[in-house]
Amino acid sequence: MALLELKNICVGYGRHRVLENIDLTLERGEIVTLLGANGAGKSTLAKAISGLLRLETGSILLEGEAIEALMPAERLRRGIAHVPEGRQIFAGMTVAENLELGAYASSETDHAAQLEIVWTLFPVLRQRMKDIAGNFSGGQQQMLAIARGLMSKPKILVLDEPSLGIAPLLVAEIFHLIERLRGQGITVLLAEQNARQALSIADRGYVFENGRITLEGRAADLLNSQDIAVRYLGMGNAADLSDSASDALASRLRCVLNNPSMGAPDKA
Ligand code: ATP
Repeated sequence: MALLELKNICVGYGRHRVLENIDLTLERGEIVTLLGANGAGKSTLAKAISGLLRLETGSILLEGEAIEALMPAERLRRGIAHVPEGRQIFAGMTVAENLELGAYASSETDHAAQLEIVWTLFPVLRQRMKDIAGNFSGGQQQMLAIARGLMSKPKILVLDEPSLGIAPLLVAEIFHLIERLRGQGITVLLAEQNARQALSIADRGYVFENGRITLEGRAADLLNSQDIAVRYLGMGNAADLSDSASDALASRLRCVLNNPSMGAPDKA
């Protein structure tokens, strides 16, 4: 039985339908990545899984049990922790206070045990446990956001764009850390625009376009796929693309430079 199974789900905001007929599975111990451009629907899916958004239709099974009617707090208690895009830590609070809030649903024993795991994974947070989180760099805030998610002892960690707005050196550290989470037995669903790095640590991936899954497969196969390179043209940064995609992007840029009108924004 899959750890998490989404069956034919449709999700939207009011009358604006975003996700159409999504089927997706997560097996225990996997890192599965969701790829796609801005607005493709990755964050919407993350919110639907954690319960911040209700399904219009379809079903979500956690270890075979339907959870789509449960509130976010109950889903958290059952093992789904969501680290949203943009980190959303409590900037005016200390590291220790942020972590405590992440553990609000845990017993004291679990709290102490999880804190030890967090300190081992993030020694820098231990050193700075009494510091105000808002003074940290973007990368350190992201680490704190992930650490806070871990405090609930999750089975599944849903990470939404953890590399967004972070210096490249720290991005590498964060991806390395996500790999170590799998080593701790945590299953990770990773929404990312940083396709190459996400696929390099993932077991499988799903590609989203306009709220639909257009491609899925083993990460190694997706990483070598010409299709991915083409789909990712003009998205993310060139350093994140495969060589062939970078070449195509460079050629497109040359065209725009030679024809400035091609790169101009559309007029209203
Ligand atoms: P990004 O990386 O930019 O967040 P994404 O793949 O996560 O992209 P979503 O944030 O899920 O994409 O957005 C999918 C669609 O839903 C977009 O068309 C977006 O405009 C729309 N959308 C997102 N949030 C809301 C909202 N609160 N109300 C209405 N529409 C929304």
